[in-house]
Amino acid sequence: MAEVEIQEIVDAGKCTGCGGCATVCTIDAITIKDHAVISEECTECDACSMVCPVIDGFPENEFDNVLLVRSGRSNMPGQDGAVVTGMVKSLLAEGHIDCAIGVTRDEVWQATPLLITDVQDVVKASGTKYTNAPVVSLVKDAIARYERVAVVGTPCQAHSAWLLRNLAKFREIAVIIGLFCMESFTYDLCEFISGLGIELRSVRKMDFDKGSFVIYADDERRIPIKEIKRYARPSCHHCRDFSAYYADISVGSVGSPPGWSTILIRTENGRALLGKVKDIEYGDANLDPVKKSSDLKRRHK
Ligand SMILES: Cc1cc2nc3c(=O)[nH]c(=O)nc-3n(C[C@H](O)[C@H](O)[C@H](O)COP(=O)(O)OP(=O)(O)OC[C@H]3O[C@@H](n4cnc5c(N)ncnc54)[C@H](O)[C@@H]3O)c2cc1C
Ligand code: SF4
Ligand code: SF4
Ligand code: SF4
Repeated sequence: MAEVEIQEIVDAGKCTGCGGCATVCTIDAITIKDHAVISEECTECDACSMVCPVIDGFPENEFDNVLLVRSGRSNMPGQDGAVVTGMVKSLLAEGHIDCAIGVTRDEVWQATPLLITDVQDVVKASGTKYTNAPVVSLVKDAIARYERVAVVGTPCQAHSAWLLRNLAKFREIAVIIGLFCMESFTYDLCEFISGLGIELRSVRKMDFDKGSFVIYADDERRIPIKEIKRYARPSCHHCRDFSAYYADISVGSVGSPPGWSTILIRTENGRALLGKVKDIEYGDANLDPVKKSSDLKRRHK
């Protein structure tokens, strides 16, 4: 077994499966299953440890870089206000980015990363999948073909994309859009849903609301969150970033009314790009519930 720092992260159950290490490894010695798997080809150069969000560590104060807090919604289909889908669509359509990396799913809710280059494809990534897909592993392909790449992902993925962007080789990452995230789940969550007698193919949306996990299929089914906690991914128990500190723009549900998304602008780059986005309606959002979720995440781990 290779003696590299990320192997220790994997062994400790802390690997988030973000995919950053797979992008940086020049000899393709890493594949991502639920976590990074390092092959015997590994030369122990340790480049991968430079882009691992777990090795880099978590922010002390998650909100010290927030420049602006807004609420928003677009007219696209989406999980909450479809702000992410609206932003990606507009940035692509207006030529501010060449591609975006998001997550799509199949009929039975298997999530996979998706390289989006076409406005028509943007909706294939809309909606939240609560299982993991190694978004950052696609950065390697994306920067080989395009000059301005948007990365959309959970806080661990946003963090890895930020570490990549700090390396001169990955300056093509034009914008990092982070999602709020309390935790993600293994595919056992989907099997649990099947076990309830709900056909996965009929599930249109999954969400969290007032202490319940909500499955929208032919009917709406509410399950107490404590019943699904056991399917949370082990790495998420160690995670201390709720609001995607390392993103240019963070987007989440909490802090805004139903049908709207909360938007945190964290960098001047994020502010400039959001300024170019068309067709988003803005309102006021409340940062206090976001801070509460962040505290809850830190307390419960
Ligand atoms: C695992 C997970 C847990 C979350 N937990 C919370 C929470 O506790 N509280 C909260 O307020 N918000 C949470 N969110 C964020 C929320 O669900 C919405 O993603 C966010 O509000 C944006 O909504 P939207 O309508 O703008 O997104 P949409 O316009 O629907 O766009 C969704 C975007 O999310 C991306 N995406 C979908 N699934 C994944 C995934 N598994 N990994 C990476 N990217 C993905 C897609 O590529 C797409 O670009 C979570 C998101 C995820 C993925
Ligand atoms: S140590 Fe180097 S060769 Fe080995 S997996 Fe990491 S990046 Fe690849
Ligand atoms: S970079 Fe991401 S996928 Fe690789 S070891 Fe670290 S957490 Fe795991
Ligand atoms: S809680 Fe979210 S951000 Fe943290 S490791 Fe899990 S999926 Fe990544």
